[in-house]
Amino acid sequence: MDIETLTIKEARRALDAKEFTAHDLAAAFLARIEKKNAELNAFLEVFVDVLEQADAADARIQKGESTPLLGIPLAIKDNILIKGKRVSAASKILDGYVAPYSAHVIERLQAQGAVFLGRTNMDEFAMGGSTENSAFGRTKNPHDLARVPGGSSGGSAAALAAHLCLGALGTDTGGSIRQPAALCGIVGMKGTYGSVSRFGAIAMGSSLDQIGPFAHTVEDTQTIFDAIAGHDARDATSLPDKKAVDKKPKVIGVPRAFLSQGTDPDVLARFEESLALLSAAGYEVRNIELPAVPHSLAVYYIVMPAEASTNLARFDGVRFGLAVPGEHVLDTYKKTRGQGFGKEVRRRILIGTYVLSSGYVDAYYRKAEAVRALIKNDFARAFAEVDIIATPTSPTPAFKAGEKEDPLAMYAADIFTVPVNLAGIPGISVPMKTVLRDGNELPVGIQFMATHGNEQALFTVGAACEAVMR
Ligand code: GLN
Repeated sequence: MDIETLTIKEARRALDAKEFTAHDLAAAFLARIEKKNAELNAFLEVFVDVLEQADAADARIQKGESTPLLGIPLAIKDNILIKGKRVSAASKILDGYVAPYSAHVIERLQAQGAVFLGRTNMDEFAMGGSTENSAFGRTKNPHDLARVPGGSSGGSAAALAAHLCLGALGTDTGGSIRQPAALCGIVGMKGTYGSVSRFGAIAMGSSLDQIGPFAHTVEDTQTIFDAIAGHDARDATSLPDKKAVDKKPKVIGVPRAFLSQGTDPDVLARFEESLALLSAAGYEVRNIELPAVPHSLAVYYIVMPAEASTNLARFDGVRFGLAVPGEHVLDTYKKTRGQGFGKEVRRRILIGTYVLSSGYVDAYYRKAEAVRALIKNDFARAFAEVDIIATPTSPTPAFKAGEKEDPLAMYAADIFTVPVNLAGIPGISVPMKTVLRDGNELPVGIQFMATHGNEQALFTVGAACEAVMR
């Protein structure tokens, strides 16, 4: 077993062929985590019952059972609830909190017999693009330890890129799966809003949040997505189950005017090379206009803090985790929230409260929602003409830790990923080779977007992209 080249697909074959057991596989990953995690800080906790879970999977395999993920070791972002396990969203405010129930996605994966290795580091409450906002220290990029793995699901991405698991879950509110996937050289995707239940995911921006997979290949990514997607009555925005659209994508639209602003020239070069390869493989590449989409960052950084400020009101020192006793109840709220939340989380609660306050709600929140409707229209118009829209996933390769201390500089890195969440469409990031920085080959990603419900088009073009990159 070579865990540095292993995929979920290959592990499935070998497990079913009894070439190794789920116990062997889990033990191999545990040994590697033991060796590498101290340096990377990708896992916040490795579960004590990993081998027990693997043994349970082996018992099912012995009985002749096979599901795509039976016995497959996965890493779970620390904002997804697993009953009986700690969950902290990388925040001090959830100190000591144990999940009283499991997320829908966890139930789905457990039904298949997947093995959960542990919970991974992230930006506190998923606010950030570098995993530097964790209350438990930053995660390092396995390709260059001085650099960030991206965020907010940076722990999951780094764990997979360093081969500390075979697949992982993240959450994506404005790019937190796709951007770290790009910066770590792996595949990451978010489905259509409502395709995966948010039940049991710690809420950030409820109209934007989606749980989604990371994997080494597009095929493995689809395997995890298929396992976690589907209707759940406990999430009011969960979509009904319906047959996937199965139209072969042929035309790729490229919003060149949108790309020209501030994208690193090396990233743009890799992007154009990738498009040329896809075009040689039979795809038609066409220029498109998305006139309102450049306003996405401004809209996102109003809508997301607004929703986050209301979602985070529940952390009050009474109901969950940390409690710093005060003189009276208001004092308890203030002390707990003041000590429990980190700087970025407090900044966003302030912004969110401000844009929702009477007197400013029309100027900011309502205007942002109106522009969001224009952004959705741009995509609807574009998808009447093209099957796929492509952009780089991130305007730059992985940046150095500490490089983006100015929050606005950090927010600017989300330019290509946030439009997808605002429109509720699905998006995937696939590796598109590397760029050289300080003697290191740093991975970069290409993002593909499709219309609502058309994840299949992303898997098809994503696999085509992988093939031409080989
Ligand atoms: N980087 C974005 C932000 O800071 C996206 C975060 C996310 O998707 N959770 O909000």
